[in-house]
Amino acid sequence: MQKEKVIVIGSGPAGLTAALYTARANLQPLVISGSQLGGQISITNEVENYPGFPEGTTGPELVDLMQRQAEKFGTRILIDEVSEVDFRNGSPFTVKTHGDTFEAEVIIMCVGASPKRLGIPGEEEMIGRGVSFCATCDGFFFREKDVVVVGGGDSAMEEALFLTRFVNEVKIIHRRGELRAGEALKQRAFANEKMSFVWDTVVDEIKGNGKVQAIATRNTKSGAVGEMATDGVFIYIGHYPNSDLFKDQLDMDEAEYLLIDKRMMTSMPGVFSAGEISDPVFRQIATSVGQGTAAAMMAERWLAERE
Ligand code: NAP
Repeated sequence: MQKEKVIVIGSGPAGLTAALYTARANLQPLVISGSQLGGQISITNEVENYPGFPEGTTGPELVDLMQRQAEKFGTRILIDEVSEVDFRNGSPFTVKTHGDTFEAEVIIMCVGASPKRLGIPGEEEMIGRGVSFCATCDGFFFREKDVVVVGGGDSAMEEALFLTRFVNEVKIIHRRGELRAGEALKQRAFANEKMSFVWDTVVDEIKGNGKVQAIATRNTKSGAVGEMATDGVFIYIGHYPNSDLFKDQLDMDEAEYLLIDKRMMTSMPGVFSAGEISDPVFRQIATSVGQGTAAAMMAERWLAERE
């Protein structure tokens, strides 16, 4: 059993910032990365709204910079996934990964959220065969092809705009007649000649024979059904919190986001939280960084008061 003062679970902007702050407080944090070092931003292509980068930056570049900055002050990053936690008896807490078991005085939970699925026939079977949740990862494979993007939020617009670099055409399939995306992205999307919009429409099935060939659509107003040929289906319909690990151990809201107090502490003293796992509202890199800072400062204070 390896003993640690601080374990940060998750390595997105919240986790890497919590690590930077606890490292600078000389607490030598251990970050357990999760399946993807950097979390969701590691698969985000354009980042235009993170302060300090007037020309914009990319998710992988930001992850690299944040990681290097955290490591510079003594953060250790373990590339592994947490498989089990035991918070029931209070601090010290037990954290198991696939390879090790740890004991930690303080936990900072930064496990984030994952893309929601449509839950329709063909979706699961054709992931990697034309169904994707990551334009940055897969866009390149769709050069000069026709694709659809499902969703009308910021993520859908951002990723569809990215896809226009490669593909012939992107059709946005949105269940309403108005986008949820913010004004700036909306204007860029409407102005892009490769993008068109299919309003008031949902996808009922993804069809193909080993790879995506078409989608079955339904108009939400008229009920009219149809079929649309396509080479790829990119799905951006929001996220769900990655809270399965600690169900029954920490208090959550009805959507299973962690509940925290003003000091970023969960229902278990000594377990703090930051980023999307406890924030269904803001979900920005900048807000996750702020929350990571706050959680680290409160964790440090909690430890000091205990000692
Ligand atoms: P979101 O804002 O929740 O948008 C999800 C979209 O998917 C909505 O248009 C929604 O339709 C649609 N949708 C949801 N469930 C669906 C279903 N079952 N079938 C069909 N369509 C469905 O999610 P997001 O775009 O991932 O953004 C999440 C948060 O991150 C937001 O706060 C966003 O502002 C932020 N974000 C910001 C940026 C940026 O500022 N550059 C970039 C990415 C994300 P309705 O509109 O009808 O609900």
